[in-house]
Order: sequence, then C-alpha cells, then structure tokens
Amino acid sequence: MKENRRCSLNQFMEGLIRRNPHEPEFQQAVDEVAADILPFIDDKYEYRKAMVLERLTEADRVIVFRVTWVDDEGYVRANRGYRVQQNNSIGPYKGGIRFHRNLTLDTLKFLAFEQTLKNSLTGLPMGGAKGGANFNPKDKSDDEVLRFCQSFMIELSRHIGPNVDIPAGDIGVGAREISYMFAQYKRINNEFSGVITGKGISFGGSMIRTEATGYGCVYFMEDMLKENGSSFEGKTALVSGAGNVAQFTAEKIIELGGKVLTLSDSSGFIHDSEGITKEKLDYVKDLKNVRRGRIAEYADEFDVTFYEGKKPWDIPAELAFPCATQNEISAGDARKLIENGCIAVAEGANMPTVKEGVDLFIGEKILYAPSKAANAGGVAVSGLEMTQNSMRMSWSREELDNHLRVIMRDIHAKCVDYGREKDGYINYRKGANIAGFLKVADAMVACGPT
Ligand code: NDP
Repeated sequence: MKENRRCSLNQFMEGLIRRNPHEPEFQQAVDEVAADILPFIDDKYEYRKAMVLERLTEADRVIVFRVTWVDDEGYVRANRGYRVQQNNSIGPYKGGIRFHRNLTLDTLKFLAFEQTLKNSLTGLPMGGAKGGANFNPKDKSDDEVLRFCQSFMIELSRHIGPNVDIPAGDIGVGAREISYMFAQYKRINNEFSGVITGKGISFGGSMIRTEATGYGCVYFMEDMLKENGSSFEGKTALVSGAGNVAQFTAEKIIELGGKVLTLSDSSGFIHDSEGITKEKLDYVKDLKNVRRGRIAEYADEFDVTFYEGKKPWDIPAELAFPCATQNEISAGDARKLIENGCIAVAEGANMPTVKEGVDLFIGEKILYAPSKAANAGGVAVSGLEMTQNSMRMSWSREELDNHLRVIMRDIHAKCVDYGREKDGYINYRKGANIAGFLKVADAMVACGPT
C-alpha cells in the first residue's frame, strides 16, 4: 500500500452516502466525526492503512426482525425490531433500546455509531450498539407493553448475552420495559445474569443509574463552567424534554443553584419564569413516570404558560440543555440562543443539534458539550452495573455518584486535551471525537483486520 493514500472529507462522505443512501441521520453523525478525525489521522499512517474510520462506520452486523404480539382486543399486531451491533473492539456491545412510533434503521445506525465513541470515552470496556422497535408504548396498556416486550425478547435473546451484548433503556424504554425484557430473557435462558442494565434495584440494578445521564450532563457543564472561571450559581437554564434525562438534568441544576425555566414534551413546552423547584419537579416525575400525562398539565397546575407545538429555545437564558431527541435545535434555534446571551450548551439527548447549529456554537466560541461526552454518564453507570453484577455485589449511592463524578471529570479532561485550539478555546466536539476514536482505533489496529 502506498504511504500517501489519503481521502478527503468529501471523498469519504461520498462513499459513505453511496453505501448508506436515504439515511440522513447516520450521514450527519458520521460527517461530524469524520470532519475532526480525517485531519487528525492525516499524518498517522497506521490508522489510514488499517482503514479504521471506514471500518468503524460499517456496523459489525445489523439484525432486523418481526415482533408479533396480541393487543387487548385480541387482534394480532406486528412491529419491526432491530439491533445494530456496531463495534466490539474494546468490549462487548452495549447500548440502549428505543421504542418509538417513527423509529427507523437510520436513527439506530447513527445512535450505534455515536455509542461506540461515547462508550470509549467513559474509559470502561464497552463496545457500541443500539436497538429498538417502531412501537409506541405510550398509547398501550401495561398488558400490551408486557406482551410486546416478551415477544421482542424472544428474538433479541438469540443475539445478546452478558459477555456479548448488553442492552439498556432509551426513549420509550424505562424501568417497566426493562423489567419485562429482563424477566423474559431469564425465562428463555434459565439464567440470572447482568444481560440488561437499568434493572430495578431489587434484582441487580445499580443505584444512581436512573439519575446518571442527567446528573452526568450537569457535572460536565459544571466542569466546562469551572474551566472558564464560572459556576451554576444563579444561572438560568432551558431544559427540553420531560423524560428520564430531562428530569434528572433539571434536578441537579436546581441542586447546584441554577434556575430551570422550561421543560417540554412532543406537544410543546412550559415556561416557568419563577423557576422549577424541587417540589414542582416531583410533580413532573409523577405526571410523566406514573400517570404518563402531558407536560401541558404542569401549566394548569402551576399557572404558567404552555406553548403548544413549540420548542423552548426562544426563551432568554444563559445555559441550554437539550434533553428530548435528535435534531431538536435547528440552525435558527442555535442563532436565537446565541442572540439571547446563551453562554453554554450541554447535550443530554443524542445529537440534538443540527450540524449547522453546532458550527454556529463553535464559530461563536460558546461552550458546547456534544452528546457523546455530555450524556456518557448513563452508559458509564450502566458499565458499573455490569461490574457489580459480575462481582455479585453492589455499591452505595455515594460510591456510585463519586464514580460518576470522576468519570465525567475524566471525559472533560480528555476533551480539553484533544480539543484546545491555538487561541485557548476548547472545541469539545473535536476533543470528544478524537479521544473517543483513539482507544477504539488502537484496539482495531492491534487486533489486525477483523
Ligand atoms: P424518555 O422517553 O424518558 O423521554 C423523552 C422525552 O423527549 C419525552 O419528554 C418526549 O416527549 C420527548 N420527545 C421524544 N421525541 C420527541 C420529539 N420528536 N419531539 C419533541 N420531544 C420529543 O427518554 P430519555 O429521557 O431516556 O431520552 C432522551 C434523550 O436522551 C434521547 O436522545 C436518548 O437517546 C438520550 N439518552 C438517554 C439516556 C438514558 O440513560 N436514558 C442515555 C444517553 C442518552 P413525549 O413524552 O411527548 O414523547
């Protein structure tokens, strides 16, 4: 092979788009990574010779299957299930399961690719994967969700295992769905093992896992602010979403002295100019986790405004935490945030900002924490749940919160190491991409062409 065989970003993306047509989210995720990695490996022959980036963007395997179940009226229903096993160079496949009406393979490919770099950033031995189904648990009864989860696991169980692939929750998959799937795996294999993370505390779950993604995201923001001589004290914050990540992001912001102004769901957002207190957040947890209601009910309960069909990014605030879904911050939203004086963004959701929006944040040199760094706390504590399951013991809440704090600080430090620009600005996107890539790339080079 000639030493000078190189590939420009355009050439690389042309090939990727040809191989993955009609998959804009996967293309977007790869483009954002390749733009940082290709210049970085330009003088690193071993990575180019091993075609690491090309291999990293091709999943080890994609499993697609039908999930058949019976609804409460006795009708047979069928959905499509998936598992994308992206890369297991540094550890067994690991990544969440998403149940969402509009879920496509495109979304799962982007998530599995991002997961691979994120898991690497945590420093724990976990490869990358993602899975799910185009199933909407929100308009189903508990019994229907149970039957769906059991049927989903009948097929998925053939492809996972505590040393093979360890799923977890994501959008639409919370404690209820995890419990049903774990129990079904146990029945099929007659084996009690750490095959899924996010389990209930009484059957192998880890303390702090529920809180970890949100808390971790806020810890990362705290480190970014600290690096710039600032803190949360008195700062206003926009949070989108009202699910797992949003709830615990809001909780930790409040605990650290910040003021949370908004929460949202797919029907719109609420603006509470007085700030969402811990008591009001308890109401949201009950509303969303127990009663499975809509965020609009918060507006009636606390006499604040609900903006139907809108996102919170027009409200002036210093900090922004997108915690709902991908591409929820458009270029226009990013511009508005900057105009309104936003100084920092930490992404709780996966890829919540469109590429042009990210470019604007970085171009304006505001603090911008990409999802693969900012929301890695969830999978990090999942990794610690795996460790506890293997050791057949459990750590205390304090021990785990300390572990989480240290892991997030470590990820921040890696981003600073690889992301600091000549003028001192820290490009966290570049730092996270390079640091996440390096560990996987070294393993792939060492193991030869597999
Ligand atoms: P949940 O299902 O608990 O909550 C999702 C929230 O986002 C809900 O409020 C939901 O509203 C809202 N939402 C979903 N889709 C849309 C949409 N298209 N437009 C507007 N709002 C939407 O999920 P999580 O909190 O677990 O996940 C949120 C994000 O965080 C996802 O990107 C996920 O991949 C990411 N993440 C989650 C981790 C975890 O540990 N849970 C770990 C790392 C990343 P509604 O109820 O109306 O649907």
